[in-house]
Amino acid sequence: MTNQGSGELTSLLLRSATLIDGTGAAPQPGIDVLVRGDNIEAIGERLAAPVGEAVEQIDCLGLTLMPGLIDAHCHITFGEPASNDELFHHRPPATSMLLAAFNVQKLLRAGVTGFLDADCIHDLGPALRDGIASGLVAGPRMASGMNALLTAAGGTAGRLIPDEGTLGYARTVGSIDEMVRVTRQQIKYGADWIKIHVTGLIPGRSGELSVWSLDELRAVCDTAHALDTPVVAHCRNADSTRSAAIAGVDLILHASHMDHAALEAVIDAGASIAPTFTFLANLADHGHTVGASAAQVDIFRDEIEATAQMMRAAFDAGVRLLCGSESGFSLTPYGHWHAREMELFVETLGLSPLEAIGCATRNGAFALRLDGRVGTVEVGRLADLLVVDGDPSIDVRVLGDRRRLRHVISRGQQVELSGPWPQRQTLPGEKVGNWSRQLLTWDLVHATDGA
Ligand SMILES: [Zn+2]
Repeated sequence: MTNQGSGELTSLLLRSATLIDGTGAAPQPGIDVLVRGDNIEAIGERLAAPVGEAVEQIDCLGLTLMPGLIDAHCHITFGEPASNDELFHHRPPATSMLLAAFNVQKLLRAGVTGFLDADCIHDLGPALRDGIASGLVAGPRMASGMNALLTAAGGTAGRLIPDEGTLGYARTVGSIDEMVRVTRQQIKYGADWIKIHVTGLIPGRSGELSVWSLDELRAVCDTAHALDTPVVAHCRNADSTRSAAIAGVDLILHASHMDHAALEAVIDAGASIAPTFTFLANLADHGHTVGASAAQVDIFRDEIEATAQMMRAAFDAGVRLLCGSESGFSLTPYGHWHAREMELFVETLGLSPLEAIGCATRNGAFALRLDGRVGTVEVGRLADLLVVDGDPSIDVRVLGDRRRLRHVISRGQQVELSGPWPQRQTLPGEKVGNWSRQLLTWDLVHATDGA
């Protein structure tokens, strides 16, 4: 899909584009950008083509050139399950890896040139990341966590989370000693980030509850930071967001229902947030078309409304917001929704399209641990770029429409966009067969008998 490993790197000269550089600066028309290898080498008006080397010139007149998108919350190994049961019990490791390798190419095709997979099933992430980096698999730049650390109270999957040991993406840790040991082990085996589920869903209790103590969070953060590794945490209530920030968590996912105390802690600690409204909005806006339950639709709509105002306050206070789609579930299939978070930042937080684009590009570099090296179109930055037919500085939704992507450049090489979208059949044992969607009562069967 990309020309990695061919040995012959062709420089690219993108001509006459309208440039959105990702820094927040206004779009500039008539700009040329020269890419040599994985490097943006020159930017200016009417650049001279380098002589004595292969240069492909790409006419971008009337098109917008901008940094590639960075999805800060993407579960590439999950394989689009429709339920937690399917996610935890129908995904053998080898199959999951094949599926991830199949799916990750779709991100590039959708203009995503970088992503963070904070927690992956069967600890597959680092091997996939390395496979992409070495050219075995076509995919974007990837940063990876391993299993998410959970306490015995569980995470988002209620009682499917085991009391100890590992299952799917979950690693249940029972004591501070074990938290410290597993953190060190994960770093040894290649984790770029350590992921904690600070809140968990406990059947019969409303919302998610904080299931980690401050001391426990601190133990993981201190251990990871001592080994130069950042920590990312799932926090779906105000209290967890506050304690995660105080403990030193670097990137908070969701920060749902954030209150003033939590925001203050986030600001004081300099933590970043990826709200990940996309999953919630997909369920709230479109869940009915794919058979989601009405109760779930309401919960998720409320969560966006309850969170948006404080998230805007966070943005105004200078908190770095990142765009994440939570792609990887049946409600967020790969390659379809990576740009929607920008749209939601505009709609629900009142950000300008350029501000939202900055969240998905410049700010996203933090998730890749490449802050200041990728995510903007500036001389000396890594060469991840998009060329799109439309003006995302006016309507950011054009970035969600793959038909408008003219060129995707990943690590300095063009991604092939013209082939058919990757298709596959259901794998044996992959799907959970439901016996029915409702109870087969006697009344239901006889309701039309006129009795
Ligand atoms: Zn997630």
